[in-house]
Parts: sequence; structure tokens; C-alpha cells
Amino acid sequence: MEKVIRQLREDATGEVLEPGGPGFEDALRLYTRSVRGRPRAVLRARTVEDVALAVRATGQAGVALSMRGGGHSGAGFAVADRGLMLDLSAMRSVRVDPGRATASSGPGATWGDYDAATQRHGLASTGGVVSTTGVAGLTLGGGIGALRGLRGLAVDQLVAADVVLADGSTVTADAGHHPDLFWALRGGGGNFGVVVRFEFALHPVARLVTGLLGWPLGSANRVVREFTGFAGALPDHIVGELIFTGAVGEPSLLMTPRVVGTAGDAEPLLAPMRATGPSTDTVAERSYVDGQRFLDPLAEWGMRHYWHTCTLGHLDDEVVALLARFTEGSPSPTNLITVEHLHGRMSRIDPDSTPVGFRHAPYNVFIEAKWADPADDEANRRWARELIDALRPHAAGGAYVNYLPYDATTADIASAYGPRRFDRLRAIKARYDPANLFRTNQNIPPGWSVSRGSMPSER
Ligand SMILES: Cc1cc2nc3c(=O)[nH]c(=O)nc-3n(C[C@H](O)[C@H](O)[C@H](O)COP(=O)(O)OP(=O)(O)OC[C@H]3O[C@@H](n4cnc5c(N)ncnc54)[C@H](O)[C@@H]3O)c2cc1C
Repeated sequence: MEKVIRQLREDATGEVLEPGGPGFEDALRLYTRSVRGRPRAVLRARTVEDVALAVRATGQAGVALSMRGGGHSGAGFAVADRGLMLDLSAMRSVRVDPGRATASSGPGATWGDYDAATQRHGLASTGGVVSTTGVAGLTLGGGIGALRGLRGLAVDQLVAADVVLADGSTVTADAGHHPDLFWALRGGGGNFGVVVRFEFALHPVARLVTGLLGWPLGSANRVVREFTGFAGALPDHIVGELIFTGAVGEPSLLMTPRVVGTAGDAEPLLAPMRATGPSTDTVAERSYVDGQRFLDPLAEWGMRHYWHTCTLGHLDDEVVALLARFTEGSPSPTNLITVEHLHGRMSRIDPDSTPVGFRHAPYNVFIEAKWADPADDEANRRWARELIDALRPHAAGGAYVNYLPYDATTADIASAYGPRRFDRLRAIKARYDPANLFRTNQNIPPGWSVSRGSMPSER
């Protein structure tokens, strides 16, 4: 590791930060405190050459490497214990080409950066619903957002990516160049290289009608029954999430509808939910940028976390009773159980066109245990694990890898993608990162696909 640090100090343009030195502790401030260990050094990269240098140096020295984009990984994957943290947060410029309707994003940009830049031209593409989340990590896992019904997932709008590969070379992956790599990047996470530029297709979007509807938890069955009664017939320009939580004081059911359009467009769609008599209603027409950050206050940094996830095939009374019971029995009032309604364009796209393994499911559950005191670690992790075990009989198969816990097994990751897609990912991994340098993630071990009879070919 000392050799790596010396090399970076000599040749990198970005700062090398070490324990005890200026900036090191600041660089470790991430969304979650639940990280395992501490890096031996941080390189705050400034250029693609810095990234290539870090990849080459760590690869040759056998040193663990992690990437930090927006720093939002709940599993704590931005930190490699005793290794090098490649901090990309300074490479955050977003350039928009309104003529081609595309945006080029640096790997350190947040969705707040991205939405502000693209909205100057009245354009947008699917991104996360909290503005401090990174473009990089969210996109590479799939990317569920407000435009999923109209435009698909974040990966469905990715048209090209520049990637620093495990050997330190840089390639552009798109439909015509390195097509297997391009396929793997659209859901395979940080397994295949360091993406240093994302290029997305943009679409005109002006206004978003969104906010919170809230009910006491006791009304959950009645309200969810009303929602599921028409959820299957909703048009593409409305999506929404249901949130079971005590974070707003009383144990509550919240709903975050997101309608692309004006208050007039939204009114008939929201009327059945408003007719159930919510006790809170902050839903209003907002600029797209404001709509994409109204949840930021619920996403404070510096807490401890344990995430888990599964899809759901149905959201019936039994499931709702389960979610309500776990909300009432939650060891931390800030724990959130979010049920994302999945429909529209993201569900119609060919499931084999990307590695993403949850397109077929009508609902996706994101369990976010969130607490402050390390003494509460075990109780909160147990709560999340028991909830996932209780939900499993209702799951529709597949999962969103960005919401999996840090201790997900290879079998969990395989089942998130489904065997065919996982097999293909392993073969592509074997070709692009045979030594598994990029392993601080929901790891896809390099492998050769026996079922497809394929061996890794030369690049
Ligand atoms: C408050 C909050 C809200 C969220 N909302 C959403 C949402 O609306 N929709 C959704 O789909 N997800 C959402 N997520 C989950 C989110 O997609 C993941 O946490 C994702 O990993 C965050 O990416 P990041 O760049 O911020 O994280 P980081 O911690 O910086 O990175 C996470 C991992 O991504 C990989 N990575 C990062 N940068 C690169 C790169 N340049 N090249 C290769 N690999 C890289 C690495 O494996 C890294 O460990 C949310 C998370 C939080 C905490």
C-alpha cells in the first residue's frame, strides 16, 4: 500500500488524503456510518488519468479499491478496509447537449447536480428521488425514479459510458462498442470498471405534482385496498411509493405520488386517494427540480443503516398487516419500509435487454433500518431480516441490487438477477475483470457460463 500511496503522490493531480492529515476524516463522511473498517488512503481524483493511475496501482499491488460517487450506498461499499477509496466527488460536471437531447455526467455528480443542469433546458431523464444520491451508483444498479413509468429506469436512458477497465485502459461502451460491457453496466453495479462518464438520453419534462399524503397506520388496510384497486390501470405519467414508518411522529402510512404534468393533470388521478381522507396532504405542483428534492429532509446523513429488499407479487391485506405490525414493532422510529409501485415503460422493456432482475414485479420493497446508537445495531438488523423472511412467501422473484444488504450472499445476488442474466454477467466479468479488482460491491464473481457454453473471448 505504501508504494501505491507514493505513486499517487508523485503522479496524480488529485489530493491523496491519509489518516491524521487534512481532509481525510471529511472524505469519510458518507450517507451511512455503517461501514466496515477504514481506508488506508483516499485519492480525490480530478481527471480520468488519476482514475486510471489508481486502478493500475491498486491492481498491481493487490490492494483493495472502492469507489465513492454520491456516497449513498447503505451497504457502505464506498469504503474498502485498509485499501484505497477512489473519491470521484470532485468530477461532478454535467454537460447538456440540447440539440441531441443528451447529457454527459461526471462520476461524482449527484441527481441534484444533474437535474439542475438538464432542467435549464427543460429536459430530464430518470434519476433518484433524493437530490444527494449519486448518478453513478444509482444508475449502475438500475435506477428507480419519478420517470420510471414514462421513460423506464435510469439504465434505460443510458446511451454510452466511458469506463476505466481493470487494466487501466479507458474504453467507451455503447450499443456498437463493447456491447457486452454496455449491457453489464446497465444493472451490474460497480463490477466492471470505474465509469468516468455517463451519457443519457433526455426528454422534455417541466412540472411534477408530488408531496406527501399521510394516514394513521390504523387506516393502512383501507387505504392500500383503495390504491391497489386502480394501481394496475394507472397511466405511465403517474408513479408512487407507499411508506410505512414512525419517522413522522406517529406510526403512519405515507404515500408519495409523482405525476409528470400540472395540478390539473394530476387532479383526477389523485382524487380517489384524497377521498380516503388523508390527515396530511402536501401534494402540490412543483418545478421538476423541487419535486426531486422534497424528500431530502427524510434522508439525513450520518446514521447507521441496514438495508434489505424483495419484490412483491401482490399487496393484499395479509402483506399490509405484516408491514403495519413491523412498523409498530420497529426498534427505531426512523426505520422506513418503502413499497415502490412498478409499472409503465420500465415494466414493458425486454427483461433481457439489461441485467436488471425486477422488471416483472408490480411492487418492490425497500427496507431501510436507520438508527443512531451502535448499541442498537443488532436489534435493527434482526428487525430487517425478520421482516424480509416474513415477506418472502409474497415475493415475485428478482431483486434490486442497490437495496441489498452488505452481507448479501452470492446466492442472494444471483437470485436478484435471475440465473440467466447472472450467468451472462459472470462471463462478462471474467472477460473484463478476471482478478476481481472491483469487488467492494454486490459482487459478481468472474466465471464461465457452462449453460451457455461460452468462454470469455478477447476484447
Ligand atoms: C437517501 C437515499 C435515497 C435513494 N433513492 C433512490 C432512488 O430514488 N432510486 C434508486 O434506484 N435508488 C435509490 N437509492 C439507492 C441508491 O441507488 C444506492 O444507494 C446507490 O448505490 C447510490 O449511489 P452513490 O453513487 O450515491 O453511492 P456510492 O456509495 O458513492 O457508490 C455506491 C457503489 O456504486 C459503485 N460506484 C460508484 N461510483 C462508481 C463509478 N464511477 N464507477 C463504477 N462503480 C461506481 C461502487 O460499487 C460503489 O461502492 C437511494 C439511496 C439513499 C441513501
